[in-house]
Amino acid sequence: MSSGAPRGNGQEIRLSRGASLSDFADKINANPGSLVQEMFNLGEMVTATQSCSDDTLLLLGEHLGFNVQIVSPEDEDRALLAQFNIDLDAAVDEDRLVTRPPVVTVMGHVDHGKTKLLDAIRKTNVVAGEAGGITQHIGAYQVVVPHQGEERAITFLDTPGHEAFTAMRARGAQVTDIVILVVAADDGVMPQTVEALNHAKAADVPIVVAVNKVDKPDANPDKVRQQLTDYGLLAEEYGGDTMFVNVAAKPGTGIDELLEAVLLTADASLELTAPTDGPAQGVVVESHLDKGRGALATVLVQKGTLRAGDSIVAGGAHGRVRAMLDENGNTVAEAEPARPVLVLGLTSVPGAGDTFLAAEDDRTVRQIAEQRQARRRAASFANSRTRATLETLMEQLKEGEKTSLTLVIKGDSSGSVEALEDALFKIEIPDEIQLKVIHRGVGAITESDVNLASASSDATATIIGFNVRASNKVKDMADRANVEIRYYSVIYQAIEEIEAALKGLLKPEYEEVEQGTAEIREVFRSSKIGLIAGCMVRSGLLRRNAKARILRDGVVVAENVTISSLRRFKDDATEVREGFECGLTMSGFGTPQVGDVIETFEMREKPRA
Ligand code: GDP
Repeated sequence: MSSGAPRGNGQEIRLSRGASLSDFADKINANPGSLVQEMFNLGEMVTATQSCSDDTLLLLGEHLGFNVQIVSPEDEDRALLAQFNIDLDAAVDEDRLVTRPPVVTVMGHVDHGKTKLLDAIRKTNVVAGEAGGITQHIGAYQVVVPHQGEERAITFLDTPGHEAFTAMRARGAQVTDIVILVVAADDGVMPQTVEALNHAKAADVPIVVAVNKVDKPDANPDKVRQQLTDYGLLAEEYGGDTMFVNVAAKPGTGIDELLEAVLLTADASLELTAPTDGPAQGVVVESHLDKGRGALATVLVQKGTLRAGDSIVAGGAHGRVRAMLDENGNTVAEAEPARPVLVLGLTSVPGAGDTFLAAEDDRTVRQIAEQRQARRRAASFANSRTRATLETLMEQLKEGEKTSLTLVIKGDSSGSVEALEDALFKIEIPDEIQLKVIHRGVGAITESDVNLASASSDATATIIGFNVRASNKVKDMADRANVEIRYYSVIYQAIEEIEAALKGLLKPEYEEVEQGTAEIREVFRSSKIGLIAGCMVRSGLLRRNAKARILRDGVVVAENVTISSLRRFKDDATEVREGFECGLTMSGFGTPQVGDVIETFEMREKPRA
């Protein structure tokens, strides 16, 4: 059967990563249904609007004779910027390069002391005292320490946890130069230690190990060194090239040595340079909406110099830098590479991991931001267009067994929203359940969130408010629309409850538990009751109303049988035990024979793991 899809002649078509068959059809002027049919012929069931894997797109392209080029979001963005003559990857002449401070992320298992360590490091800053402002948490800070007769700066990303690191990397923004892996000496290598290590390795980032809590009586720092050799981290003192430093973050010992190790590692294995001239480029580390000051974003400059008054675009947000503040709340006039600053003046809140850049004028940054927003809308529209077509409707019918939990996540900062979403998707749930996040954002819960939740295609979505609330008006609206809003201020609590909800969503699963077996010894006919089987209970017990199946010579000859009456001698019995005789009648089985075995069982709800 010909599906009528057009054939290409090797011409190139460019598709965004995760494009659907509809997108494909648009490019080649075909009917999406014909591509669904083509894929079906190729042995894959794909709906028209479902996002496809690279392989699927390439396979279909090859089959139809098109040279499919998959374009990643980063490539798309590069193409967009090229329209404005901006090239983020342009080679920089050697003579423009200046040494810059290393950027460090602290990772490790929960409770091993990441937060304490970041606090302790912040306190060692030699210049913080002079600055004298009020320390603020802006998501990153810089310390200056003496090193081999020089004052050297080190930048720390102050968002402990792997989420920020992974989120940024997932978007192609590699910000971290060095990872400090914190391992508590009284606890040793734990699952998240390994996870952190793998992230760092995947990103090809050198690791300095901070063996923490060495002040504790049960601390065993050598064991940590020993354990980590299994993961390819061999300490220098054992002939390897990883620096291990014993620290105690709480009392604050060993911090200078740790910073020393960071600088030595940076100097030994990294070439940290960047141009300081030219328009600034970098990454958004953290962002949130402030009641008084509007959209706030902490950005880390990676190239060039950011100045107050610059026009910038960060992800889909743009604006003019009204003011820049450092982690001590002091105004900063200029930020050079590796300098984190809190930027005021954006028109909306960008996402953590979004890149930012300064451009010539307001118009350019606005146009870039608008085009990015349009593209994101299109992408999220493509993902949420689930009930638009007949194909998807049929798909949903076919998947009738599936249940899904749909969420809208709102939070006080992009970091927390992302961390929560990441963590939620790590919950292990069975295949028949789907977890969907149809919208996420920073700020209070609004009417449009409620609208979105109640309009969700398969089930009403639940709104999660993480450190944000809904106004009374929005609450009323949610009540009327039957949209549930749940508030959380601790990520773990949110995860626990949602995990429970996911498990509660599961239809109970039943398992068969054998109750007893009986052998038919005689069959008599009663004019009143019909056929009565005289039995001997062989194992367990027989109960009235029990479900049963009948075996004859070991073969099931009847299913869905019920023991409809049960008697011991002349009396009705509710159950008869092993070794006793009984008489019974059955419904669902009309031809009992001597020698048949009645196997009874009960359906019991299986507890979920
Ligand atoms: P995180 O989850 O990795 O951020 O760990 P925290 O920094 O919150 O620390 C977890 C717990 O360990 C806290 O109760 C800290 O007070 C404690 N802690 C952290 N560092 C040390 C240390 O060097 N010595 C001791 N004795 N306790 C520490």
